[in-house]
Amino acid sequence: MNPNSYETTDGIRTYKLFINGSWVASSRNQLADSLNPATGKVFARTHQAGAEEVLSAIDAAEKANATWGKSVASEREQMLLRTGDVIARRTEEIRDMLINECGSVSNKAMWEIDYVTDLLRSAAGDVRHVMGETMPVTIPGQLSMSVRRPLGVVAGIAPFNSPFLLSMKKIAFALAAGNTFVLKPSEETPISGALIADLFQEAGLPAGVLNVVPGVPDEVGKLLISDPRVRLITFTGSTRTGRYLAVEAAKHLKKFTLEMGGKSPLVVLRDADLDYAVNVATFGAFLHQGQVCMASSKVVVEAPLFEEFCKRFAAKAATLVVGDPHDTKTFIGPLIRRTQCDFIAGQLEDAREKGAVVLTGGTFEDRFFQPTVLRDVNSDMRIYHEESFGPVVSVIQAEDSEEALRIANDTRYGLSAAVITNDMQKALDFSLRLESGMVHVNDTTISDEPHVPFGGVKDSGFGREGGKFSWEELTEIKWITVQLGQRDFGV
Ligand code: NAD
Repeated sequence: MNPNSYETTDGIRTYKLFINGSWVASSRNQLADSLNPATGKVFARTHQAGAEEVLSAIDAAEKANATWGKSVASEREQMLLRTGDVIARRTEEIRDMLINECGSVSNKAMWEIDYVTDLLRSAAGDVRHVMGETMPVTIPGQLSMSVRRPLGVVAGIAPFNSPFLLSMKKIAFALAAGNTFVLKPSEETPISGALIADLFQEAGLPAGVLNVVPGVPDEVGKLLISDPRVRLITFTGSTRTGRYLAVEAAKHLKKFTLEMGGKSPLVVLRDADLDYAVNVATFGAFLHQGQVCMASSKVVVEAPLFEEFCKRFAAKAATLVVGDPHDTKTFIGPLIRRTQCDFIAGQLEDAREKGAVVLTGGTFEDRFFQPTVLRDVNSDMRIYHEESFGPVVSVIQAEDSEEALRIANDTRYGLSAAVITNDMQKALDFSLRLESGMVHVNDTTISDEPHVPFGGVKDSGFGREGGKFSWEELTEIKWITVQLGQRDFGV
């Protein structure tokens, strides 16, 4: 990384804030430790932005918008492409940061990096497609059109679990549309934010277009929400935080988008290939140790397959290697924090007391939770309703496909869902009736592409992120008319 982005004390780097193209220390000199989730040891520190720095970041973004907002499409396109090239050159460094900071296993980190490279190229391609339209008129001689304009300053609040991908998704599309950006990364993964700033700086992004201000969440959040120059808050994180931010944003009549939690069902119908269904469930439930918003935390299986599915799924889960995320054989790395293990252990205790059976796993050491499969879970149990955000999955029996659909929809969330069947009539029927923003047939609930309408319904959020679907949120549409010649007002 740029040597100006950090200072080193006792071999540990302290990363600075990125404001107006410069690396700056917090004026009140407040620092926060970043722990490596695998070791529990401090591996870096970050300066914490106070009010002075957050306001400077907004100032810088607003000033930069005067030129970036008017830049020609090819400039923004080239900028995004160059950043993609920088990422392709610095893959190993980004991978190591994702492993050390958020406990990503190596393969998941590489997937995240490949996704972001693709995302930047996809966003670059979108730059020339931010379009308005001309419209029919009822007034003779009038030309009537809609024009899409950048909003101005956009603020992003990102979660810890895929910090590189989820922050970049917000930034890339916002910049593509001509907005400037202030990022508040998660307090668990602030170094990802510094790294993102560094990548854009190396690619030559003009000063002020992107600013990164990690800090105390509520403090930074309040400043971003209440400042009238910030035109949109784009949030990804838990439903609890999203609900709070929505109320705060409403007080200031601030536009916002919310990508929030999930309890995504995977439905296995009676004609499914059992081994394939087990593979789909294993990937969907345990990728990134279940810390994925789209994780298949609830698998609903039709009765004729239920017993055999439970047997094979539990056996497969028990083979997953838990441990050092640097080791390419590891599938399950550490959870982000110890308290998350305690939270999941509480859900399991509640489920066991009410009759659930743990088929495999159920225990943890430090931050490493064993892959856990539960059966006989019912709606009296917390785990039936709550997101676990860990490697824990409930397998629930359904007598028939209608009951499977009812159980799948029996949740306040609605992010992603999947159904395994070769009966296309049922697959399409399910696709339409599953109460979920995204449905995948014969595939995992964990799917994402830069150009698709990514997002949820119900308590999983609203607003869509991805390609042209982002423009609704990231631009304002203006109606313009031009009267060619003089209009007859009859006066
Ligand atoms: P979180 O809600 O704890 O934090 C998310 C972000 O909100 C962080 O940057 C945090 O600092 C910030 N935040 C917290 N309180 C705040 C406040 N008062 N004001 C301003 N900002 C505040 O979520 P997390 O633990 O980082 O992430 C896990 C959650 O995110 C899960 O629920 C997961 O399902 C969800 N998630 C959703 C998606 C999606 O696309 N729908 C993607 C990834 C994660």
